[in-house]
Amino acid sequence: MNAPQSTSTLAPTVKLLINGQLVESKTTQWRDVVNPATQQVLARVPFATPEEINAAVANAKEAFKTWKKTPIGVRARIFLKLQQLIRENMKELAAILTAEQGKTLPDAEGDVFRGLEVVEHAANIGSLQLGELANNVANGVDTYTLNQPLGVCAGITPFNFPAMIPLWMFPMAIATGNTFVLKPSEQDPMVTMRLCELALEAGVPPGVLNVIHGGEDAVNAICDHPDIKAISFVGSTKVGTHVYNRASLNGKRVQCMMGAKNHAIVLPDCNKEQSLNALAGAAFGAAGQRCMALSVVVLVGEAQKWIPELVEKAKTLKVSAGTEAGTDVGPVVSCQALSRVEGLIERGIADGAKLELDGRKPSVAGYEKGNFVGPTVFSGVKPGMAIYDQEIFGPVLCIAEAADIDEAIAFINANPNGNGTAIFTQSGAAARKFQEEIDVGQIGINVPIPVPVPLFSFTGSRASKLGDLGPYGKQVVMFYTQTKTVTARWFDDSTIAHGVNTTISLK
Ligand code: NAD
Repeated sequence: MNAPQSTSTLAPTVKLLINGQLVESKTTQWRDVVNPATQQVLARVPFATPEEINAAVANAKEAFKTWKKTPIGVRARIFLKLQQLIRENMKELAAILTAEQGKTLPDAEGDVFRGLEVVEHAANIGSLQLGELANNVANGVDTYTLNQPLGVCAGITPFNFPAMIPLWMFPMAIATGNTFVLKPSEQDPMVTMRLCELALEAGVPPGVLNVIHGGEDAVNAICDHPDIKAISFVGSTKVGTHVYNRASLNGKRVQCMMGAKNHAIVLPDCNKEQSLNALAGAAFGAAGQRCMALSVVVLVGEAQKWIPELVEKAKTLKVSAGTEAGTDVGPVVSCQALSRVEGLIERGIADGAKLELDGRKPSVAGYEKGNFVGPTVFSGVKPGMAIYDQEIFGPVLCIAEAADIDEAIAFINANPNGNGTAIFTQSGAAARKFQEEIDVGQIGINVPIPVPVPLFSFTGSRASKLGDLGPYGKQVVMFYTQTKTVTARWFDDSTIAHGVNTTISLK
């Protein structure tokens, strides 16, 4: 991660959110938030001091005393209001997101929208957090459960979905009665802050939602803080593994959604046109910077002849700033990300893969300083090559071949990651075999990016995930609550006493 550095003293500062107030950090360490299409410095983000981090947690701890007892309806109505405010401010949110992250305006609206769906889900907290009751488990005895909030919870988010992923976290944590400390990505914290301002406007009380900024030191402080009970992390596998180990050793509940290498199987019986369109969209959309991007396609049998058509589709995509109408592929987030992607393309050539389409150094009129790399396609890709073994996180598609579906499934199962996968076929039997035998947590059947809606949970698996429970859906209610199980019997004066019972059985 980059050391904090700021070249500008003129750009506006991103504020901390502590106890319901937007406050200027007293830190001496700042980093620029940069428009990846133009290199314009949009803002400066502080790396919060230890005192500021402690103040955020202390306020969240104090606010928990009353927030945990706040009636369900009051909590739910805040999220009803927040979803309305997000809808009303959608264009502004998308514009901020595109400026600091680079994705196209329609995709930025999609980023906000996928988070908005979780806010709507949080508004339904009453039925989601219901406990269970069994009547008459023994004579005059009932057993029931209470799903109670944990206390102060924290969220650490990545740069690639700066609206959706913070909204995966704080609405459900707060709706279940917890208070929250959020640490957004230092690369694009501005849209996240705008969403938090809207949450205050919707009625989230002071101290219930707090935001600190920073990098490694802030994350380590969260992992070590004795008053933080649970941490949701989304980001790279390397950092997620560190967070999981460090916070778990400190006795915290942790869920880490991490890096990926998502494969699609293309069977020759699929609807060719639909499938090739889906592949191009899922490989190159958001400049390949999605944890669910399809970055490897396994062409089976006759489908191996379709490489030229896939390359032609990739060539039609327009590379430009996310604000330009008709753009398909915006810039990658930073100059460092660009040189990493270009370096991996170089490694792919050196490792012997065939470069079918070279997207390096595209000419983008009006945005000559932008971090652009166009759609890039390699065929003949094999395990052991850096472009296969590493998550590229750029618009680079790797093509591998398999003789049949069994070989393709075995190929995918041998990859350590388990975030997402897809199959393209018109055979129900093949699709069912795939769903049964593939060892990946989220499966698309003719759906290229199978991110579940919040009625379900996000269920990446294997090296893409640490911790048992996923974000949103039902699982996150379990993550953010502790179940108490109550076994109760009430006597009245007419109850006949049966003497001392020294056994474990309930009578
Ligand atoms: P990242 O790991 O660099 O950063 C994530 C968070 O960790 C940020 O808030 C950052 O400040 C912090 N961080 C960075 N370096 C750190 C360090 N050394 N010690 C402690 N904290 C540190 O990830 P990113 O580049 O922002 O995001 C892209 C990654 O996130 C990709 O690997 C992508 O697959 C993954 N991702 C996964 C999912 C998922 O659901 N599985 C979703 C989105 C993104």
